[in-house]
Amino acid sequence: KGRIFSGVQPTHTLHLGNYLGAVRNWVRMQKEYECIFCVVDMHAITVFQDPAELTKNTREVTAAFMASGIDVSHSIIFAQSQNRVHAQLAWILNCVARVGWLNRMTQFKEKAGKDRENASVGLYTYPVLMAADILGYQATHVPVGEDQKQHLELARDIAQKFNTDFGSDLLVPPNPVIGGPAARVMSLRDGAKKMSKSDPSDYSRINMTDDADTIALKLRKAKTDPEALPGPEVLDEKGQVKAEEDAKRPEAYNLLAIYAALSDKELAQVITETAGKEFSAFKRDLTDLAVSVLGPIGGEMKRLLDHPAEVDAVLKAGAEKARAISEPILKKIENAVGFLSA
Ligand code: ATP
Ligand code: MG
Repeated sequence: KGRIFSGVQPTHTLHLGNYLGAVRNWVRMQKEYECIFCVVDMHAITVFQDPAELTKNTREVTAAFMASGIDVSHSIIFAQSQNRVHAQLAWILNCVARVGWLNRMTQFKEKAGKDRENASVGLYTYPVLMAADILGYQATHVPVGEDQKQHLELARDIAQKFNTDFGSDLLVPPNPVIGGPAARVMSLRDGAKKMSKSDPSDYSRINMTDDADTIALKLRKAKTDPEALPGPEVLDEKGQVKAEEDAKRPEAYNLLAIYAALSDKELAQVITETAGKEFSAFKRDLTDLAVSVLGPIGGEMKRLLDHPAEVDAVLKAGAEKARAISEPILKKIENAVGFLSA
């Protein structure tokens, strides 16, 4: 049985992209893998977070995991800062990773923006902490969205360099699991940008806690074009949307892909079924579908958030299990480096 590690930052609330691209796949992987799911609060503070908001969001992400179907009797849920191994291993890996490697990371460039001199050092070394998250558990598989592929590649490079430098096999290069039909859900306002928690416009995303009216409103306002829905002529022989078609109507195909993911159908099938439909009617169907999937999850999240002690207890028990796995691994790594044990 392989071991999975994956995380979500407690920045703002989770959205449909996080659900379809990450959490829903995790729920399905629990049968096949030993799973560790982490609320990565140490990653979150690479950009300033209001402390009270950080606490609230940590509980909210935990509640989202639980409400989506992560079963804590089999899988581990905890917050990154509750296990010191992450920070300790990250330091060692900071000394293995090369500046040239980090300089190639596109997420840093995007998140630091124009004022790069003023970005936190933590934002720059974020991918090294992510490597520590994974390598500290000898995780074999890491489910990630497209946006995290480059960071996972870096984790593999760090593991290989460590093993070569120290003649060890302690760091296991992890394999990406880029899964499902919704590896990349795009913004509702701009088909060229991914749906993101940190997008300033709340209309760019559907949050997991949005109620039916909010979902309806956001989808009504979602950017589309005046044409009716495309038909099967836009598909290639593999049943994929042809690249040139996708480039013409990115927002339309994003909504179709969301519909396909929510209904667990192939995109080609959805396109065939909805061919020629007016967008207004399609958006109403999509709203009903989104509400039917997210409604019960959002409801359970609200219940859990009214009982924060229940959520905190899950995190505490999870952190204990996480330490039990990772502390012996860190000890061996420290030993390989030449540190005397404390
Ligand atoms: P932020 O804008 O703060 O980076 P985010 O929306 O990118 O937030 P993360 O916490 O960075 O969310 O990512 C959590 C998980 O969700 C990761 O596995 C990531 O790959 C996945 N994910 C994030 N956005 C999307 C998206 N638009 N479509 C599919 N998966 C996504
Ligand atoms: Mg992100």
